[in-house]
Amino acid sequence: VKSKQPHVGTTIFTVMSKLATDMGALNLAQGFPSFNCSPELIDLVSFHLKKGHNQYAPMAGVPALKEAIAEKTADLYKVNYHPENEVTVVSGATEALYAAITAVVRPNDEVIVFEPAYDSYAPSVELNGGILVYITLKPPHYQIDWEVVKQKITPQTRLIMLNTPHNPTGKMLSMSDLNYLAEIVRDTNIFIISDEVYEHITFDGRPHISLMMHPTLQERTFICGSFGKTFHITGWKIGYCLAPKDLSVEFRKAHQWITFATSTPMQYALADFLKKPENYLAIPDFYQKKRDKFLSCIQSTRFTYTPAEGSFFQTVSYSGISEENDYDLAIRLTKEIGVASIPVSVFYHQKNDYKILRFCFAKDDGILEQAGERLRKI
Ligand code: PMP
Ligand code: GLN
Repeated sequence: VKSKQPHVGTTIFTVMSKLATDMGALNLAQGFPSFNCSPELIDLVSFHLKKGHNQYAPMAGVPALKEAIAEKTADLYKVNYHPENEVTVVSGATEALYAAITAVVRPNDEVIVFEPAYDSYAPSVELNGGILVYITLKPPHYQIDWEVVKQKITPQTRLIMLNTPHNPTGKMLSMSDLNYLAEIVRDTNIFIISDEVYEHITFDGRPHISLMMHPTLQERTFICGSFGKTFHITGWKIGYCLAPKDLSVEFRKAHQWITFATSTPMQYALADFLKKPENYLAIPDFYQKKRDKFLSCIQSTRFTYTPAEGSFFQTVSYSGISEENDYDLAIRLTKEIGVASIPVSVFYHQKNDYKILRFCFAKDDGILEQAGERLRKI
């Protein structure tokens, strides 16, 4: 086959999870919890399965879930999205991102992507004929220089992709970042996709600053969310997109041909579960304990790090420990000491030697402790 995507290989998450399984290693690589979701959520699914909610859901989502999402959003961010025509339920944030990109990117449109970037962004842009314009963020601060962003804007710029809290760096955007961005895009027709799948996983009392909180940015932004991260159900693949009506119309045109609709009983269960705000309000504290536990477990290793501000990932630097590139080191650590991680260079479009590994701390404390002990050996 003459490949349409010759430079695309198998995603690092699949590669590292397979290696972790083959080696019997602790999997701190792919981002998913080692623990189960709330038993209440399982009972709710079972209830709705038995009730007969087993046929196609409406294309844009079960009304009760769209309403629950709109209500949660209004409570938390004081922004109103109309459940009927501004909230769309999709099969995971991966689909939300792909559908939003497909909705706006035409052949040869330029798309600004900050790297390190979640690995689905670039291929999704390319499959739609878009031209990637990268802005490289460097460790240890990964700070966006908005002057550089301004210089990268051309008449062909169609879309800017953002992610806060950020995978893999754990960085979060501030209101001042949003103000800079708003100024840069003010007199343009540039769209924004804001990947906010870790909106509830934030630390040290730092509030999640959603792009929707800035009124002039909200008008041009597709917010992509996912229940996978928030409720420990990455295997359900239920996400959503919030966008003003005219953007949602275009979004739904793409969504209806990608998956058409999303699992019905799961949507009903989530609608009920979302009615109790404590179910998501407890998440920051829960994950703060996990982050702090992981940091205490790696404290006496030789890695250096800045604590993550959000997300369930911690990046660490191994410069001063090894001269290997991060990919080789991640493979070796999985094989030799039984701890799998993600080499952060895979989130950049060109090879680099920043010497950073990413660990997922959404794991039982026992796993984090064992990982800490093993990592002390290197
Ligand atoms: N965006 C980011 C930043 C992620 O880390 C993930 C990881 N799962 C996704 C999108 C995809 O989310 P989902 O599993 O809901 O498709
Ligand atoms: N988002 C998860 C991560 O960053 C993985 C999702 C996937 O495997 N596609 O690890």
